[in-house]
Amino acid sequence: MRWGQKSRNTHATGAGLRDRDEVTGLASYAAFVHECADAMSIRPGTAQASPAVLLVDLEGVAEASETDGHAAGAELLRLVAGRISREVGSLGVLARMSDHQIGVLFPDLSAPAVALDLAYRIVTAVSSPTVLASQRRVQVSVSCGLVTRDVLDARATAADLVRAAGLAVREARRTGRNRIEVCSAELIADADETIAIGRDLRQALLDNGLRVYYQPVVELASGRALGFEALVRWSHPVHGPVAPSRFVAMAEELGLISELGRMVLSTATAQVQHWSTTYGVPLNAHVNVSGLDLAQDGFVGMVQECLAASGLPATQLVLEVTEATVEPELEVARSRFEALQAMGVRVALDDFGTGGMALSYLQSLSVDIIKVDRTYLDDGTPDALDERRVDELLNGLIGLGKALGIEAYGEGIEDETQKARLLRNGCAIGQGYLFARPLPSDEAGAMLREQLEPMSSLSRRILAAGTHSTPA
Ligand code: C2E
Ligand code: MG
Ligand code: MG
Repeated sequence: MRWGQKSRNTHATGAGLRDRDEVTGLASYAAFVHECADAMSIRPGTAQASPAVLLVDLEGVAEASETDGHAAGAELLRLVAGRISREVGSLGVLARMSDHQIGVLFPDLSAPAVALDLAYRIVTAVSSPTVLASQRRVQVSVSCGLVTRDVLDARATAADLVRAAGLAVREARRTGRNRIEVCSAELIADADETIAIGRDLRQALLDNGLRVYYQPVVELASGRALGFEALVRWSHPVHGPVAPSRFVAMAEELGLISELGRMVLSTATAQVQHWSTTYGVPLNAHVNVSGLDLAQDGFVGMVQECLAASGLPATQLVLEVTEATVEPELEVARSRFEALQAMGVRVALDDFGTGGMALSYLQSLSVDIIKVDRTYLDDGTPDALDERRVDELLNGLIGLGKALGIEAYGEGIEDETQKARLLRNGCAIGQGYLFARPLPSDEAGAMLREQLEPMSSLSRRILAAGTHSTPA
């Protein structure tokens, strides 16, 4: 079926259908939604149609445009659209949804399996190499999201159908290349819940409803606290505690990450400076920073403001970033690191060894600390041979850091064996449940007091013992 050709007696006219993409000749996004609405409309006396939408996300078109120019990118897009169109035939209609996404509407499918079968054929067709007019061979990979009408509720609109396909394609992208994800009712419910929780997160930030917990970073040999890592916590009024990895990602998506970052940094610097002056020891504040926040123009200024407001010397602040978050914006990260280090702030690469970052980046990105991910602490079995492998890996990672003048810290240390592994391979500082869990500020403060005021804690205990033994 060609675009605009009506298989049923529909109300769809004009506006959307004239709307075409100049590069591919396919219909536009607006026209696509218009056609979806038509396919979903209920007409008295006729059976409800079973429309399905397939979104095909293309990876490799942008690269072709960047290396060979826009004309090559456009040519590639047209060739790919042609392949998809051949597979779809008269069963569906195509539209250009965005720069690198093509949509297919199947107005009325006999069975969802037909669309799935087509999706597989499209993946195979599109991912086979393409030769451009310039004789250049390019490889495109695709992520497909498929939704059929039956997973949506009865009142669903065309926009809901397209949105559901978008959720599926996002899931496919997240889980690998050349994948097809079929949208389920659960996926939609999860996305709806995420939106609702996101709204509550915004409110919690406004209402000061997030808390900062502190996990001691210790000298491994003695257990003495050298500083604290600030870890943000949020308990949702209905759902209870939400994992930071989840709500930090939400804050990024909702544009709230700068507010969240500022709140944690200002709270942690003030708290750690308070402990430092109370006990007369220079403690370090370790604060996690999102890559998106780091990339903001005002980031370095914001750090300066927090340091000035708290009185914490810059040399006692360690900002932790993960490999995965700095990788996409490496140049920006490099310039931010330089500016921060010029102030005296140290930079740590968190979860080191888990990202896909090439080791050579360590040389070009100026980093002060690597936090060796806890997956390197375990061999998983008591086998002596594996134990040696763990040692060799740890030794290699820590030694590499040392050779580049970078200190290695351990994280996620849960038992004495893991601590011993780190110590014998040259790592002297770390954190983990073995020493303490992340604690609310009052408990972390009490733990510090115990450590740093042994005399007063001893006298407190004697006092307490005296109280118990003294008859009332
Ligand atoms: P991270 O920075 O690598 O923090 C360490 C995580 O390991 C924390 O998880 C901590 O609770 C957990 N942990 C500590 N010791 C142990 C241990 O011995 N065993 C195990 N299994 N886990 C241990 P949490 O608090 O859930 O945070 C997860 C991640 O969320 C953090 O990983 C960090 O990337 C991010 N995050 C936490 N707070 C913030 C924040 O304020 N801002 C930003 N941007 N990210 C944050
Ligand atoms: Mg961290
Ligand atoms: Mg970590």
